[in-house]
Amino acid sequence: MIEALTFDLDDTFWDNRPVMARVEQRHYEWLDARIGHAGDFPLEEYQRRRAELARRYPLRRGDFTWLRRESLYTMLLDFGLGAERARHWTDSTIEEMLRLRHEVEIYHEVPGLLEALREQGLGLAAITNGNADIHRLGLAEHFDIIIPAGEWLAPKPDARCFLAALAYLGVGAPHRAMHVGDSWREDVLPAHHLGMPVAWIDARNERHDCPPHVHRLDHVRELPALLARLDRQ
Ligand SMILES: [Mg+2]
Repeated sequence: MIEALTFDLDDTFWDNRPVMARVEQRHYEWLDARIGHAGDFPLEEYQRRRAELARRYPLRRGDFTWLRRESLYTMLLDFGLGAERARHWTDSTIEEMLRLRHEVEIYHEVPGLLEALREQGLGLAAITNGNADIHRLGLAEHFDIIIPAGEWLAPKPDARCFLAALAYLGVGAPHRAMHVGDSWREDVLPAHHLGMPVAWIDARNERHDCPPHVHRLDHVRELPALLARLDRQ
């Protein structure tokens, strides 16, 4: 008997690939249009600095906003801006990045689906490694708890973000909560290893062989039918 569900966000509730492609290009171009730094510091240099920072501070590897902010700031100092201007342009570029980050098209079935699950008395948690803020997306009201696992320094596949959700929701045992997510490595495997059933949204059509209690779906809209089927078993 399922008592609760934990949900991934990116590529589970919306297609995140076009979103991130836009974010990456456009906030950098936005800054370049204002201060003309990209000739000296092309996008690849910004990406290289973020990767290096994530290696140097492995606990913060999942805190993507922090990685961008710190990399931008030191890069703008190296570009020759004083501390105050570097801080100003970093802050406004991050603001622009977050604005673009939230230009997502939530699948139209999602709000109704979450509402129906709540009406059935199920506990609902969101666990994300990304920096999408579901308050900003208007979905927060559907959840009992929202765990930004990257910012909490325990990004999936770390088991602690799943355990925190189960504890908060008061779930008696992991097999009574289903995790729903698209990533084989960050969603399916860790939840499965904890003993949670999993609805795997195979958004990239990877078609791994699913172990027992891992259910492959093409789209999150298929979740209610899966839950009804499991209920009947
Ligand atoms: Mg995802």
